[in-house]
Amino acid sequence: VAKERGRDRAELFEPTMSLGRQSRARIAQDLRYALPRNELTVHYQPVVHLPTGQVTSVEALVRWERGGRSPTPPEVFVPVAEETGLIRPIGAWVLREACRHGRHWHDTVPKAEALSVAVNISGRQLKDHRFPDTVRQILHETAFPPASLVLEITESTLVTDAETTSPHIRALRDLGVRVSIDDFGTGYSSLAYLRDLPTDTVKIDQSFVLRGGGDVDTSLIQAILQVGDALDLDVIAEGIETPHQAQRLHSLGCLYGQGFYYSPPLAPKALEAYLTTQAILTPSSSHP
Ligand code: C2E
Ligand code: MG
Ligand code: MG
Ligand code: MG
Repeated sequence: VAKERGRDRAELFEPTMSLGRQSRARIAQDLRYALPRNELTVHYQPVVHLPTGQVTSVEALVRWERGGRSPTPPEVFVPVAEETGLIRPIGAWVLREACRHGRHWHDTVPKAEALSVAVNISGRQLKDHRFPDTVRQILHETAFPPASLVLEITESTLVTDAETTSPHIRALRDLGVRVSIDDFGTGYSSLAYLRDLPTDTVKIDQSFVLRGGGDVDTSLIQAILQVGDALDLDVIAEGIETPHQAQRLHSLGCLYGQGFYYSPPLAPKALEAYLTTQAILTPSSSHP
């Protein structure tokens, strides 16, 4: 129990609280050079259809190899990028990489011609009125089909400053891009708000899956699945680490999942190798 609490605490508070002002300033300074020094990469984690194990999509996750230092996780540097405004160039770069790689896999990997790529979008990116246009330009530049792009927005980002973000989400949907609500169950969105927002997918936060097994978590997962069903959203469970968790989610009726049990996030070449050995869920074999 203590270990589980420790993990929650780290996830919730590390970026803003335990990181001293000193190291944050240092991160901010080093981050300015991360792009020009080619220190950023994008890794991809497969999402699978739980009943069959077929791959349905991949999630892009940024990585920072910070010259000579130990790797700095995105949960630490993404908030700093937000505070400093560096998220704008870095976010656009991640999006371009993801679309470029996605296009390459569509063209070269058998059966991957409709593979979706999900990209995490932070609050500051979504609030920027230029963001929908940036997405449109990148799709055009990379010739990646809008319908294959999913933008993951956390539930807490969605509800903060909803008056600004809702029209942007609509503009993105008008481009043909899909929208997924990340870390679902940890924010404070009302059901009425969710009903009126054009989204496609919800991702059950991994804390529900990791704690696993308990009656309360099981009931909460069932409640989220029911919300997904009522609002016609696909539900993806995050953080599946064991066959037991996969089995449990499947038996509760959750159709999609991702986690170390299936695959950790992989470098582009490794993901490509993974895709060529795995069955891929094609649009004709089922729904997204
Ligand atoms: P997220 O979008 O909820 O991504 C899921 C996180 O869970 C990833 O951590 C992933 O590596 C990790 N994960 C996957 N499977 C498992 C598992 O089975 N067990 C456990 N314990 N963890 C698992 P990562 O890559 O460190 O990213 C952390 C967060 O940083 C992301 O959470 C997302 O909010 C943010 N992030 C990552 N990349 C980007 C990015 O390019 N842009 C923005 N704005 N945020 C990003
Ligand atoms: Mg995500
Ligand atoms: Mg998440
Ligand atoms: Mg998260």
